[in-house]
Amino acid sequence: MRERIEKLKAKLAEDLKSTSDLKELENLRVRYLGKKGEITLLMRRMGEVSAEERPLLGKLLNELKKNAERSFVDKRGEFENKHSADRWEKERIDVTLPGRSFSIGGKHPVTLVLEEIEEIFTSMGFKIAEGPDVELDYYNFEALNMPREHPARDMQDSFYINPEVLLRTHTSPVEVRTMEAQAPELPVRIISPGKVYRRDDDVTHSPMFHQVEGLVVDRGITLADLKGTLLLFVREMFGKDREIRLRPSFFPFTEPSAEVDISCIVCNGKGCRVCGGTGWLEILGSGMSHPHVLRVSGYNPEEVTGYAFGMGVERIAMLKYGIEDIRLFYTNDLRMLSQC
Ligand SMILES: [Zn+2]
Repeated sequence: MRERIEKLKAKLAEDLKSTSDLKELENLRVRYLGKKGEITLLMRRMGEVSAEERPLLGKLLNELKKNAERSFVDKRGEFENKHSADRWEKERIDVTLPGRSFSIGGKHPVTLVLEEIEEIFTSMGFKIAEGPDVELDYYNFEALNMPREHPARDMQDSFYINPEVLLRTHTSPVEVRTMEAQAPELPVRIISPGKVYRRDDDVTHSPMFHQVEGLVVDRGITLADLKGTLLLFVREMFGKDREIRLRPSFFPFTEPSAEVDISCIVCNGKGCRVCGGTGWLEILGSGMSHPHVLRVSGYNPEEVTGYAFGMGVERIAMLKYGIEDIRLFYTNDLRMLSQC
């Protein structure tokens, strides 16, 4: 019996040494101290021992049990400490590492250019006026001197909601809406930025794009005012060396009308691929307000004159950033957008 106790003690010490985790330790504990564990079974057999031997063997066996229990508790603590140390090592935060950077969104190039246009004109005393995207035929065409069957309507085929209501094809209706609201007060000096819609879709045309309309009405407004204002705008937008030229053109709601070109921003007027060798780039349409437009809007064309212009924001952005396909603005490829 005594030998048995000694052997068990040695074996337990050995087994404890070779356990490597909490699960193994628990299995080992059951094997020694469980209901059918080796120490438990040995204690049950104490009855078989002679009366003289019993006190000593009982004492030895009790000691073995107590030591075993303490050993398991100690070993368990050891494993638990090691476990949390491992975890600490694994999840440690190195506060000296550089932080992860967030990617911050930027403004769309069309928005950037739109804001720049607004800034230039508001600094010249223009107010910003807005109108509805879903517009009446009257404001989009009729009031702008384009009655039904007028051939100029063909150039602005739109999306109709019904024969009287459509998605506006230009920001010019805001001219009439603004004057109607303000007449007979002078001066009228507004720009109107916004979305417009046409049934066009190719490399330089999109079914939805942005325009900025401009309108000035006052006593004694002349073509010189128009040219001076646009020259100032162009130089703010494209640089001090830009020149402009006015080319006779036709719009039903201005008379006379002119396309405005700027000296090519790539070749400075010498002629290159971008300007098609002409040295000039077309950027907007303009003219003196047609008497019909002034009259229907509540002003007397005998007393006041005005000028108006309209520019495509995408067109300006394409020139400014050297973008050749208008559709790049709407496919939202960050490789393109983040360059502007
Ligand atoms: Zn050029």
